[in-house]
Amino acid sequence: MSANISNVDVILDTVDVDVPSCPHGPALLFIKYDQDGEKPGKQRKFFACSAFRDRKQCQFFQYADEKISKEKIEERKLINKGNSTRYSHDDLWNRCQRLQNTQLLDSARVYCHTCDLLLLPEEHKEHKGHTLKTNISCSLLQHPTQLFQPHNNNKTYAQYLFASSAVTFTLQTLDKLGVTHVLCVGAPRIHEAIINRSGSKGHSRKTLLLDLDARYMQVYSSSQFCRFNMFNFHFFDSGTSEQVYQDFVTPSHQKHIAIITDPPFGGMVEALARTMSRIMSDCVLQDEGEEEVVTVPVLWFFPYFLEKRITDAIPSLHMLDYKVDYDNHSLFSAKKKKGSPVRIFTNLPARQIPLPSNQGYRWCEMCERYSAEENKHCDKCGRCPSKDGTSYIHCDICQRCVKPSWVHCSTCNRCQLQDHKCGANRESGCHICGQSGHKRRDCPLRHLSNRKRKKELSSQSSSAMSPKKKRKKTGKRK
Ligand code: SAH
Ligand code: ZN
Ligand code: ZN
Ligand code: ZN
Ligand code: ZN
Repeated sequence: MSANISNVDVILDTVDVDVPSCPHGPALLFIKYDQDGEKPGKQRKFFACSAFRDRKQCQFFQYADEKISKEKIEERKLINKGNSTRYSHDDLWNRCQRLQNTQLLDSARVYCHTCDLLLLPEEHKEHKGHTLKTNISCSLLQHPTQLFQPHNNNKTYAQYLFASSAVTFTLQTLDKLGVTHVLCVGAPRIHEAIINRSGSKGHSRKTLLLDLDARYMQVYSSSQFCRFNMFNFHFFDSGTSEQVYQDFVTPSHQKHIAIITDPPFGGMVEALARTMSRIMSDCVLQDEGEEEVVTVPVLWFFPYFLEKRITDAIPSLHMLDYKVDYDNHSLFSAKKKKGSPVRIFTNLPARQIPLPSNQGYRWCEMCERYSAEENKHCDKCGRCPSKDGTSYIHCDICQRCVKPSWVHCSTCNRCQLQDHKCGANRESGCHICGQSGHKRRDCPLRHLSNRKRKKELSSQSSSAMSPKKKRKKTGKRK
């Protein structure tokens, strides 16, 4: 799994900037620091595709200070147009409706993986030599996440599907909350499960899927699916789908909406958080007279090791202990020793979300929340401290709980991995000022020029070594 490249940050504030577009909507503006982050002359801003982090999959790239020729602009227009699909959403949906006819034999239904298209009976012969899935039942058409092959490139769609345990848990949580409307942003399995359950007793929950994957246009109508890019809040097929979204989220008295999202983990968290914040505010009445503060429940699926990135961006979210299992990811599964690293981040009080006791979760009276079996409550810390699926151990010198693989090192004056190099933890410090505890994006000096940074740093610690020298001492950096 690819995490964010650490020497690139996204710049979200682009007022007064002329933002170019790629086939995936407006590009994101990035800033790249050179390896040391010390030479601002080498910092360069550029625009790149917001959705795909693989230049082979989306070729768009532009330096922020680059002059773009007229020819290139025309060429781009063509590329952006050419990428839109051959059929309209309504066309695709109507084709699928023809195939839903129960009078048809299963052999009449064929899906072409090469063309990503459900074929009409008379079209089969045109797809000879393509990768085909034949004999599709009506039931399989109602389970498109089983029909489509997941695009599991981490730099593009990163499609990892929930195991049935995670789907069941999510639906039960929505039941408990009394939710009437579910907005599934990059969560097709939840959308699918809600649709397939409606009709059975007492379940008439509404659901809308927002996802980048155009294949869903075939199996869901334009009121069930909007093709959407969650990194830049871009609706493809603009007018109609954005209106569908607006109607869905517009608050009313009987409506209790919840937002479920499981974004690619390799993308820019800050850009996702901006989209989530926007959606959350679209879901509440903007009426200033309104006294009551309503929380629109959010369940954001993301790995525990990105906790700080999420909670920095949206402080109302916090992490639950529930481990989320996936079908098609060997690391995100219960079979791993520590279990899956994926958790749920939510703005609901943890006590409102019971975690399944048959999977070992228990109620912690002191924390007023449900904790994982191995996450033993620490009386000294006053909480259930584990994040990563192991049982933490309290260190009396550090006065906090640490991973069981750590031991207290009196040279470093903190707990560390047994075989660490003393002093080497500087490595994990901020690239700009060298201090641990924050990364470059949170550095108070990050907006200063190189000269001002140096001045600031030397005045902060005139007797101490400059961070550059400190790093050299560890001998690891170039
Ligand atoms: N676990 C979820 C799927 C998560 S995989 C489930 O089982 O329902 C990530 C999802 O986000 C996929 O559906 C993928 O198509 C979608 N996605 C990837 N990039 C996206 C983007 N830029 N905008 C919107 N959706 C995106
Ligand atoms: Zn793109
Ligand atoms: Zn084909
Ligand atoms: Zn402790
Ligand atoms: Zn310690």
